[in-house]
Amino acid sequence: MEDIKRTGTDKLLHAKQVLAQVCDPEIPVLTIEDLGIIRSVNLLDDETMEVVITPTYSGCPAMGVIEVNIRAALQSAGIQPVKVTTVLSPPWTTDWLSAAGREKLEQFGIAAPLSASLDKKALMGEKAAVHCPLCGSKQTEMLSQFGSTACKALFRCLECREPFDYFKCH
Ligand SMILES: [Zn+2]
Repeated sequence: MEDIKRTGTDKLLHAKQVLAQVCDPEIPVLTIEDLGIIRSVNLLDDETMEVVITPTYSGCPAMGVIEVNIRAALQSAGIQPVKVTTVLSPPWTTDWLSAAGREKLEQFGIAAPLSASLDKKALMGEKAAVHCPLCGSKQTEMLSQFGSTACKALFRCLECREPFDYFKCH
């Protein structure tokens, strides 16, 4: 019994390590762990590895790709069968982004999401809410509520003149 238990724990640990390497298809510097979309990883009685995820944006086409990537990563690590379960409640919020994830976003040139109230102001056109991820200036303006994807808004820095994406609060 003891051996079987340990094997199960090892399998879970292995699965979690593999999952920590799976990247977000839209923002490849972020892993799905950074995004905080993995709710739990469970080894079911029939040895199926169940990965419970909460999608970021329901309208985000990337979610289907994430599921495929999760399956592919686990299977190529020899972990199967795999079951991906989607849980919609509680809904994912940008608060679930890890600190490391927020840092990676900024390094990638995308302004990390603000708190809900500041986000609303920023998208209403209030200046100085979003800082430029490239030079850190607060002199920014919104160009469009929709950036390269629906999840992002397009901003421009008035100081370094560079446009950049802002990851909208959700
Ligand atoms: Zn700038």
